[in-house]
Amino acid sequence: MAERTKLNPLYVQVHPADTVAIIVNEGGLPAGTTLSDGLTLVESIPEAHKVALIDMVAGTPILRYGSVIGYAARDIAKGSWVHEECMRLPDPPSLDALSFCSTAQDALPPIAGYTFDGFLNEDGSVGTKNILGITTTVQCVAPTVDYAVRRIRAEILPRYPYVDDVIALTHTYGCGVAIQAPGSEIPIRTLRNLSLNPNLGGMPMVVSLGCEKLQPAQLLPASTLPVLSSDPYVVRMQDEQHQSFEQMVTAILEMAEKRLVELNRRRRTARPASDLVVGLQCGGSDAFSGVTANPAVGYASDLLVRAGATVLFSEVTEVRDAIHLLTARAANEQVAQDLIREMRWYDAYLKRGGVDRSANPTPGNKSGGLTNVVEKALGSIAKAGTSAICGVVPPGERTRQKGLLFAATPASDFICGTLQLAASMNLCVFTTGRGTPYGLAMAPVIKVASRSTLADRWHDLIDVDAGVIATGKATIEQVGEQIFQMILDVASGRKKTWADHWGLHNDLALFNPAPVT
Ligand code: CA
Repeated sequence: MAERTKLNPLYVQVHPADTVAIIVNEGGLPAGTTLSDGLTLVESIPEAHKVALIDMVAGTPILRYGSVIGYAARDIAKGSWVHEECMRLPDPPSLDALSFCSTAQDALPPIAGYTFDGFLNEDGSVGTKNILGITTTVQCVAPTVDYAVRRIRAEILPRYPYVDDVIALTHTYGCGVAIQAPGSEIPIRTLRNLSLNPNLGGMPMVVSLGCEKLQPAQLLPASTLPVLSSDPYVVRMQDEQHQSFEQMVTAILEMAEKRLVELNRRRRTARPASDLVVGLQCGGSDAFSGVTANPAVGYASDLLVRAGATVLFSEVTEVRDAIHLLTARAANEQVAQDLIREMRWYDAYLKRGGVDRSANPTPGNKSGGLTNVVEKALGSIAKAGTSAICGVVPPGERTRQKGLLFAATPASDFICGTLQLAASMNLCVFTTGRGTPYGLAMAPVIKVASRSTLADRWHDLIDVDAGVIATGKATIEQVGEQIFQMILDVASGRKKTWADHWGLHNDLALFNPAPVT
């Protein structure tokens, strides 16, 4: 810490054309501070906030990442604090005027020889964990399943040491919803594909109430089951054979134990890194996210793609304002059209709700120096590295495609994580600037901090400190390599994330559950 407080006044300018830069020093810098290039601050500027590098008259475009993030709402003097009140939000890029795959680059050279120790499933997917997941059709049964899971963990799981955990896939869907409403396929296929996540490697088991709208046969038709089996996979609480609550719980425990016997036979084996499905997300971003954590994750993402793995990036509202940069990276015209289709869908979705993209960023993002959604988007897409985008996964759908994919999800951490798990994510990398204790029960979550001050304060929650990039102690490439290696270690069970160490697991949250009746 002592070393860090001695840091000379420092700012980060991302692109040579930028007219604003980010203050690096912890606690910000006072008015009158002169930086090494002679720039003098005319007012105090908080850490991670923007300083004007030139004099700007009202209406001047303000550039960061070499792109326009807004327009000066009034005259701004060189050395001033550039914040929300002095910036006007630009219009989003029109979806009708985007170039198709004009700059889609040649594939990066492949890299070989990288492996991790995972659990091979019957369907060819590979788990980074060996978990029994108990699917629920409806919220009515959730407390019962939670109770049963507590009993299984205490009384049965200790006998099956090769099984990592038993979890309940609980949610608020299933009853009191218009089950055939337009869009209802999204929550239904999400629940189905969650049950088929590679980290829940065996035959699914389902707990149903009996009278709910979402029936087990609609949720998990036999044709979707990964293993051909005539074994029953549903415990239905209203069945007349159950004469008491205790008998219902016993039925759940007995079916769970059969699954545990199967799962316990499995062992980790060396698998190519191409079996990884890594979901990328950010939450509680700040102005450093796009300079440190996200570019380092982007470098790791490129390494994963080069090793043949699947990488999912997401969060529609956080890429919408950078969509022109993404369609230009589409591997072919179909991918560009799929990207535009998902943006259009989301524009209409927000319009129906009477809001627009300015509902993002959050107050925390803003105090972290992120003024608007354009600045947030330009920093956010740095997570996706430089690879060509070779596919688009609609919300709730499952994918087996390799390469860099856009999984269309909201930016909400819980909903994005849930949809990425449904897409078959087996490991998540999560960047944060403000800090979040986020974690998922179904897949490990590696958390990367954008600032060393956060990584120091939250040393037992943050797995990687990317703040060293801003202070010049490490390069983007070095931190990117560190993240890539940690992905292989965590996927192999050799290293535990802090979220798993503490058992911090956020709830599943379904997207777009349609009208409630
Ligand atoms: Ca998020």
